[in-house]
Amino acid sequence: MGDQRAIEKARRVGRGGDLPASWGLGEGQAIPWEYASAPEARDIVEVRSRYGLFVGGKEIAPRSGEWFTTIDPSTEEPLAEIARANAADVDHAVGVARRAFKREWGQLPGAERSKYLFRIARILQERSREFAVLETLNSGKPIKESRDVDVPLSAAHFWYYAGWADKLEYAFPGRVARPLGVAAQVIPWNFPLLMLAWKIAPALAAGNTVVLKPASSTPLTALLFADVCRQADLPPGVVNIVTGPGEIGMALVRHPDVDKVAFTGSTAVGKLIGKAVAGTDKAVTLELGGKAANIVFDDAPLDQAIEGIVNGIFFNQGEVCCAGSRLFVQESIAEPLVAKLKDRLSTLRVGDPLDKNTDVGAINNAAQLAKIEELVEAGVAEGAEIFQPACELPERGFFFRPTLFTGVAQSHRIAQEEIFGPVLSVLTFRTPEEAVEKANNTPYGLSAGVWTDKGSRIFAIVKRMRAGVVWANTFNRFDPTSPFGGYKESGFGREGGMHGMHAYVRLEDR
Ligand code: NDP
Repeated sequence: MGDQRAIEKARRVGRGGDLPASWGLGEGQAIPWEYASAPEARDIVEVRSRYGLFVGGKEIAPRSGEWFTTIDPSTEEPLAEIARANAADVDHAVGVARRAFKREWGQLPGAERSKYLFRIARILQERSREFAVLETLNSGKPIKESRDVDVPLSAAHFWYYAGWADKLEYAFPGRVARPLGVAAQVIPWNFPLLMLAWKIAPALAAGNTVVLKPASSTPLTALLFADVCRQADLPPGVVNIVTGPGEIGMALVRHPDVDKVAFTGSTAVGKLIGKAVAGTDKAVTLELGGKAANIVFDDAPLDQAIEGIVNGIFFNQGEVCCAGSRLFVQESIAEPLVAKLKDRLSTLRVGDPLDKNTDVGAINNAAQLAKIEELVEAGVAEGAEIFQPACELPERGFFFRPTLFTGVAQSHRIAQEEIFGPVLSVLTFRTPEEAVEKANNTPYGLSAGVWTDKGSRIFAIVKRMRAGVVWANTFNRFDPTSPFGGYKESGFGREGGMHGMHAYVRLEDR
């Protein structure tokens, strides 16, 4: 604390916000010491200059003859050129997936399918560092999260569904579970590998083949996964990966030879997909946006709650569909809780995603950063009070300071719209009834959190929350055995657990 030069520097970079009194530095100051950087080596992964489509077990050039560039959002430097598929490429991939389904995968006994899934899980674990570094390079998320969350959870999904592949008759007692056929899967940029695992693992376990379209800004780990499929000797055509813009996602889900559509992304695109498949006999699951309420009662263990709140909204830069973006605090503890929260925010390290000490990495893309900035400006304009800790942001790349709003009204845009960034809106309540009413007052219903010392209160609140997942005294915990999905505009259908398997099978009577 005594390093005068560091304190001077902190003063220079400080902006806005008031640092909590406990640091004793006065207004707008950063922590007055520097951490040594601890960068993860990036040479574990070879990023090639070009990646084609992965169809029929081979990498092929796109029929369109076109390519686009994918970048590192923390530096804005190009990483690689990626094939830009067209409708003919999609048609080809679906045809290949159909043949693989008919001739091989759809006929294979469950025990055989599970061997491949176990193999994939093991390879993902063996190559976990490679995947973590590549995920961080392409998405901007901190390496400690890709290393400790995204990659292990992705492998865990394959382990879990590998275990179900030969036990479907126990999963659905008295019924026969048949695969649906070809699954079209469109995934977003916030958890590129994990969303791939959530989609591909149950689909394959149930005997379907897939054509997956990753988000344009984060195709690289999906294309590295293609290599895992080859290494695992997965029969050609069982997994196919097509890259390209949103219209390619639409061509894929509309394709007449697709039996199942699984989408994760924005509610706006989810609605378009819903309309596109309405009236067809395609099975559909949609995992869309959220505006989760995280409710803290006056008997909650405050320090534990602070960690849960921070994890709830600043994990993955807040680019999480189930992020705890609306904090409801019981009025009697609002003051100490907000003070502690500001204190904690001031310790978050924003910067190089490959640095093992980084807590908040880069926003995934320029459009997303612009959206966050626009909503934060709207919050200020509508009269909420903003707090941002002092911290130096890198000169290049898409970065945004952790942000806290107090004095937020239910009607404010920052309390209603999904920001998908490191921005927390704090609201207050007096009674449990008021908390439940305010928490449910949103078009979304994906997740929620409740913090209290009383088990009875947990049960009373949880059953009244209109949200697919409700965490109690924790937040953002994921497990392959547990179903995940939304109410209302957060979508329908469940992923994960046996429910997730259900979405990929047709049940027939014995
Ligand atoms: P999108 O919903 O546009 O993207 C998700 C996926 O859908 C991507 O693969 C995208 O492809 C594809 N896609 C885009 N348009 C279409 C279309 N018309 N038909 C079929 N597929 C399509 O999300 P954005 O990336 O635009 O993010 C916008 C907002 O969505 C965010 O600010 C956030 O609020 C929300 N979001 C929610 C997510 C969630 O997990 N629920 C995840 C990501 C975003 P491409 O990348 O090529 O455009």
